[in-house]
Amino acid sequence: MPPRVSISRLRNLGIVAHVDAGKTTLTERILHATGRIHAFGSVDDGNTVTDSDPRERSRGITIGAAAVTTVHQGHELTLIDTPGHVDFAIEVERSLRVLDGAVVVLDAASGVEPQTEAVWAAADRRGIPRILFVNKIDHPGADFDAAVRSAARTFGVEVVPLVVPSPDELALVDLLDGTRLETARGSTDQATELPATLESLARSGRERIVEACAGFDENMLRAFVEGAAVSTDALIAALRRGTLSQKIVPCLAGSAKAGLGVSRLLDAIIALLPSPLDRTSDSKNEDAAHASSDRDPLVAFCFKEIHDDYGQRTFVRVYSGTLRKGASALVSRNKKRVRIGRLVRVFADSVEDIDMAVPGDIAAILGVALSTGDTLSDEGIALEGLDVREPVVAIAIEPSDAEARARLGPALRRLLDEDPSLALGADAETGQTVLRGQGELHLEVTLDKLRDAFGVRVRGSAPRVAYRETITQLAESEVKHVKQGGGPGQYAHVILRVAPRARGSGITFVDRSEGGVVPRAFIPAVEAGVREAAACGGVLGHPVDDVEATLVGGSFHSHDSSDLAFSIAGRKAFAEALKLGAPIVLEPVMRLEIVVPEAWLGNVLGDLAARRGRVENLGTRGERKTIAARAPLSELIGYVTRLRSNTEGRGTVSMSLAGYEPVS
Ligand code: GDP
Repeated sequence: MPPRVSISRLRNLGIVAHVDAGKTTLTERILHATGRIHAFGSVDDGNTVTDSDPRERSRGITIGAAAVTTVHQGHELTLIDTPGHVDFAIEVERSLRVLDGAVVVLDAASGVEPQTEAVWAAADRRGIPRILFVNKIDHPGADFDAAVRSAARTFGVEVVPLVVPSPDELALVDLLDGTRLETARGSTDQATELPATLESLARSGRERIVEACAGFDENMLRAFVEGAAVSTDALIAALRRGTLSQKIVPCLAGSAKAGLGVSRLLDAIIALLPSPLDRTSDSKNEDAAHASSDRDPLVAFCFKEIHDDYGQRTFVRVYSGTLRKGASALVSRNKKRVRIGRLVRVFADSVEDIDMAVPGDIAAILGVALSTGDTLSDEGIALEGLDVREPVVAIAIEPSDAEARARLGPALRRLLDEDPSLALGADAETGQTVLRGQGELHLEVTLDKLRDAFGVRVRGSAPRVAYRETITQLAESEVKHVKQGGGPGQYAHVILRVAPRARGSGITFVDRSEGGVVPRAFIPAVEAGVREAAACGGVLGHPVDDVEATLVGGSFHSHDSSDLAFSIAGRKAFAEALKLGAPIVLEPVMRLEIVVPEAWLGNVLGDLAARRGRVENLGTRGERKTIAARAPLSELIGYVTRLRSNTEGRGTVSMSLAGYEPVS
């Protein structure tokens, strides 16, 4: 294990992009170039380090946000490979939460693709500094300038190329030091002197960097106006300030597959992306506000947990203080102390024991029951949990035999702990267990995990849509929950009004009861009852949404009233009121971004129309056509497979939830 470096030499970064842009290949390439692995694995052969999960390998996609640490020029880089598929948005959310900077990979032949836009917006919300890597410049359809323009236009940022592909062959011109990079026969790129033919390209490219920096740096402005020479060190320092303040987005390029441009990317990661210390002054980053030195009280956030044959592994990011092996830590959620028996850093499949983790470190705690979203803090600080979207697709699961039936419950509970974007329920008619998730692929992968990792033999029904319901008119109900007999009785009396709210606005509860008819102490119990009833499902059996519940009156009994009685009354009153509110079913409607070669456009549009799809925009991206559309999720089951077969595998689609609409 290499000696620990100072915090300013840590780089926690995410590699994010649309599916197939080359994230996995690039990660593998970085590990190889930094000497972390000796053989270069290939996605196409299914033997990369970060996709070590058999489910990922067989599908050629990345699911588990594997954290991999490597060392480059005295800096410690922890790479989190995040998935590009929208079904696994929770993984993107997790990694953005704990990272300080990101490398956004674009495919040189496609430019910015929908999923990249989604991740970019999320990174904007968290104020994460980014650099771009335009990959696949070896591809016949590659167009570096078009990719740069597409990023600048779509993201509305100043993109500053630090390298440019040389026009005639597979090589790069480094604009900072004026060398020519090409792939050595082994793997990594080598720099050679620049031939005279490329000098003017290099000169104008470097001027463009100075000009971009002049926008926010006075020294650069002066040099630019006076045409004075700028040292490379001064230029890099200015680029770093611009990147950290997100005034510019530096852009690298290359071919992950061929190993071209990777060494310059590594240099840029170290020179330009933030260390954990750089992020503390960033107001958009609330977690980092807690960051300070390793001598302060501990604050660490649990962002992921994995259960396997070795027990539970919880990934944490330390923000402040020191997490020590053998010491104990306080869990803010339940105020319980846990003992940190083993602390490790994770290298893909294998782990390395460490004695402590300091601010900025990402490490894993072994064998301790912690939950995703927990904060370890001796001062009881609780960081905000993970932002999870509501599941939209459901499958009923049926154990194949008695043994599977016995094992199903515990296995599902563990899976839900690992993945907070899943939810469990029961089918009202059949009593079957229903698993809800973010999409077909998400549920398919979860079922595979249940079978392979937990050895539970189950059958899944065809996926179906997770509907919701709401009301369309104002209604009121009155419920008296009274129980008398031996011992203490129960008394609660609630008058509740329900009113429709705007789509996507959720459930709210307001108390407008007059002067203590329901004592203030019982109001939270009424609200809890209402929320429980909404979550359990309304008149039509679906979770209730977009309703305002107002407590308008009631009464209590000085001996027999209790929280329990008022929460039961709240639940019943809400259920009664819904019946009178003319309930309707809402269905999830998805936003689709489809990219297809022109030849298949007609075909794909016809299929969309048959699925109640509404086309909102048609565009062109390079040689291909883009379709932005909306369609009900119920019509989209199996759509990804259909699109592939309709376009000989050349069409891609990215789906995200647009909202809920009444079922027509
Ligand atoms: P991910 O889905 O973003 O992780 O992308 P992968 O790393 O799985 O790569 C997707 C496909 O693109 C694979 O077939 C790779 O071999 C291929 N690929 C990755 N990088 C390059 C590159 O630089 N050039 C070319 N031509 N193909 C690449």
